Amino acid sequence: MSVLQTLIDRSNNSCELCASAQELKQYTIPPSLNENVANDVLVCKTCLDQIEGNEAMNLNHWRCLNDSMWSEHLPVQIMAWRMLQRLRNEGWPKDLLDMMYLDDNALTLARATGEDQEESEKIIHRDVNGVILEHGDAVVLIKDLKVKGSSMIAKQGTAVRNIRLDRENAQYIEGKVGAQQIVIITDYVKKL
Ligand SMILES: [Zn+2]
Repeated sequence: MSVLQTLIDRSNNSCELCASAQELKQYTIPPSLNENVANDVLVCKTCLDQIEGNEAMNLNHWRCLNDSMWSEHLPVQIMAWRMLQRLRNEGWPKDLLDMMYLDDNALTLARATGEDQEESEKIIHRDVNGVILEHGDAVVLIKDLKVKGSSMIAKQGTAVRNIRLDRENAQYIEGKVGAQQIVIITDYVKKL
């Protein structure tokens, strides 16, 4: 059974965060690259637009986390935790966070995208021109790069889509060139 079908079955074909049945999409929670039932959630467009920052956070919409934070599915718990962290200065989200329990492994994963960090301590990734890079962006290589541990050369001009940011190091991003997942230094890329 496909990942999507499994998500549809486990969620009764509804958004796993807000229970909406509208415009559902499979979402692989960052920093994971591989779609997998253990990494994915089914979310509606309203949730996804806010998760990805295409729409401003709507505090009232996220009251739904009051229920979904208790999901038995780890990726749903992690997304609930991350969205509550984004809203933690609004009062009730902080109260919900205080009630939430994630074990150490889950917490490490939940923190991987930095929602719990203050803006001032966030690691910011910038391309060669100083443009801020975000998770999921597409970049183009501005020089030929030797790929570590292989004979492959990633050619200048190669587009790398759906990049992941290294949360420990502002110099590193990851992405796929061909079938190969590679680490790329931000000085060698330009945002598309
Ligand atoms: Zn939703």
